[in-house]
Amino acid sequence: MFSFGKKKLLSDICASVVTNLEDGVVAIDRHHNIVLFNEGAQRIFGYASGEMVGQHLNILLPERFHLQHDLMVDEFGASQRIAENMAQRSRQIYGRRKDGSEFVASIAILKMGGGADRHYAAIVRDISENKKTEEELLRLAATDPLTGAFNRREFMALAEQESMRAHRYGHPLSIMMLDLDHFKRLNDTYGHAAGDKALQRFTTLCCNALRTCDIFGRWGGEEFVALLPETDAEGASIIAERLRKIVSQNILAYNDQKISLTTSIGIAQYRSGEVAVEGPLGRADTAVYDAKKAGRNRISVYRNE
Ligand code: GH3
Ligand code: MG
Ligand code: MG
Repeated sequence: MFSFGKKKLLSDICASVVTNLEDGVVAIDRHHNIVLFNEGAQRIFGYASGEMVGQHLNILLPERFHLQHDLMVDEFGASQRIAENMAQRSRQIYGRRKDGSEFVASIAILKMGGGADRHYAAIVRDISENKKTEEELLRLAATDPLTGAFNRREFMALAEQESMRAHRYGHPLSIMMLDLDHFKRLNDTYGHAAGDKALQRFTTLCCNALRTCDIFGRWGGEEFVALLPETDAEGASIIAERLRKIVSQNILAYNDQKISLTTSIGIAQYRSGEVAVEGPLGRADTAVYDAKKAGRNRISVYRNE
């Protein structure tokens, strides 16, 4: 590649790249003591190069990873591989800054020389921001923007997982469909923005009242769904009645107006051997219809024959 064959020039180029690289470059000897700590590493870890040369590499890692990391470097040293991207071998790698704070790092490692001359170099990148963005994107893809509840697609995916688990262990599982009463009238009376606030308040009330293992989602419009693991129809109706009461007693203050809300709730328990969510969901919907017919602001349980 370098046909000019000028070794000095080549090593000057390498040194300049290492110095000016945005990423951190940390090189260690076979005892894992630092021999090189470039400017990128100084920025990432918050140490000056002078304080780091001669220090053990572990100073840059959270304590819980020290042993594992030493073993990993030695294993890499003994392997046939000369370079490796560490993100492929473990789920997440953390670095520790001088101030003790931790960050998620992407790390590629290389080895050179052998025997007493063995050295390793790591190229370190702080990817905390990427991780945060990635997590935020995942959250946005899974939730409804108005209420923050799971969206229909995510709810279906979570429900499928949960129903397979319930099926495997023979545990009860119930689903609830919640439809706000006369919501069109609420919009017409107080305006669409008030309706939006009511949907947000409703979500907060439900999420606060449900257990953390329960899965709450917005099915669409003013219809919501909740999946209740380890719960049969009887248990679900107790939870539903509690929710119904909490919602009906809540007052939403909006532009000097006091808005009250009620909801009709339909409940269905999964039948034995049932895994698809569509069946129980359809029965919960039928039960909502019954609750509406019976006068709204009430719960109704679909009775499995
Ligand atoms: P019922 O008691 O029979 O359920 O009557 P309802 O008025 O709640 O039912 P209907 O299905 O006729 O109306 C639902 C209303 O919900 C109409 C629609 O404008 C409103 N809605 C749906 N999504 C939103 C939303 O995101 N924000 C607001 N403000 N309103 C919404
Ligand atoms: Mg509706
Ligand atoms: Mg409605």
